Amino acid sequence: MTYDLVVRGGTIITSDRSVVADVGVRGETIAAIGDRLRGAREIDATGMYVLPGAIDGHVHMRTNRAQDVYDDTFETGTIAAAFGGVTTMVDQAQVEVGTSLSDGLDSRLAEAEASLIDYSVHINVREASLERVAEIPAIAERGFPSFKFFMNYETYALPDEIIFAAMQAVASCGGLAIVHAEHRGVIEELERQNRLAGRTGPEWHLSARPPELEAEATHRALALAQIAGVRLLIFHMTASEALREVRAARARGQEVYGEVCTQYVLLSDADIYDPVSGTALRFSPPLRTPAHQEALWAALADGTLDVISTDHGPRRRVSGPDGQLYTPPGTSGIETRLSLFHTFGVLAGRMSLQRWVDACCTRPAVVCGLPTKGRVDIGYDADLVVFDPEAKLTLSHEVLHSDIDYSTYDGITVQGLPVTTISRGEVLIEDRTLMAAPGRGRLAPRGYPGPL
Ligand SMILES: [Zn+2]
Repeated sequence: MTYDLVVRGGTIITSDRSVVADVGVRGETIAAIGDRLRGAREIDATGMYVLPGAIDGHVHMRTNRAQDVYDDTFETGTIAAAFGGVTTMVDQAQVEVGTSLSDGLDSRLAEAEASLIDYSVHINVREASLERVAEIPAIAERGFPSFKFFMNYETYALPDEIIFAAMQAVASCGGLAIVHAEHRGVIEELERQNRLAGRTGPEWHLSARPPELEAEATHRALALAQIAGVRLLIFHMTASEALREVRAARARGQEVYGEVCTQYVLLSDADIYDPVSGTALRFSPPLRTPAHQEALWAALADGTLDVISTDHGPRRRVSGPDGQLYTPPGTSGIETRLSLFHTFGVLAGRMSLQRWVDACCTRPAVVCGLPTKGRVDIGYDADLVVFDPEAKLTLSHEVLHSDIDYSTYDGITVQGLPVTTISRGEVLIEDRTLMAAPGRGRLAPRGYPGPL
């Protein structure tokens, strides 16, 4: 029996095993795993790892709106993704006040058609109105079951009672509620005090966002989710105090998922300023101390943190009011996640190969409700990555593929690179060369096993 495509002789790494075998693909689907498979086309993966295509559950490509202008378009950002072994991403439809969720979703999906890789979107509800909340079931019915709520930021934050009502609506359709968990009012007061005292440097961005305010908002979101009976994902966790809240919620039986983004694990508050390029990094939540980094590594290893995402949304550097060059919020992470965590996680002994694949490829499919993705198993989409565990690369915006003038991980040398990326049986990248054109990506089917 001949397959359309065979990936031959690699070590298949999944979330629970490592095994040397061939993968046979028929059409867009994995059809066989075995020995001596024959294919119309064969890719030799001897000495390489074969991983499920990675999934990035938290990205922001360019919008056509005035604010939140990210510099990666759906074309450049998804080419960067494919070079990084990412075959599926979940972007966000950031629905503006005065726009229906349905219209906001439609316009985002029209933009996303330029994607090279498969995609879906979380719906970011930004209008504090019960009218918007009432639209949630219809959006879930269309195949978009995840809804994000900001607890911080003057222009986006929703009051607790609206978040709670929205969580009830999400629960009624068996979906996923997502929060950006930071305490709004006290952060704004600390920022006001900094401004008044003329404290404008990058370190004061950190000082206005102490970890306790992330933990407080995490606790509050968990309490609302418990009463609403909804499954909850907490985006970009950074603080050990907030991790404790997740562990306590799990212990009382809540279905809660923790996400961490690359930058919070790889970088600390000591890295906010890059003296080589004169660039300061500005994220919210901010970079934390090395003690928090250690807590995040431990939480990744023990599963308190389910998934690694990137919050990819790079922008060209801008000059701050203090004359300092800043990278605006968001990082250039979509291309570098697998390599960074292979280098500083697996090779450094902080996580197993299995947990690496689980956190980057398999668990995101569970958390984001992507039932055809994330596994090297018969019947799943043939999304595969051939990963060379020996290859080395020093990261910079010049060798990466995002449309930016500074990479968050400039100057870091990684060991382990995706060399070939396959999406639904189609080779997108072969031997680190682009082989397919943007626009072939498809909306990925979504769904959860059922209500809680
Ligand atoms: Zn984000």
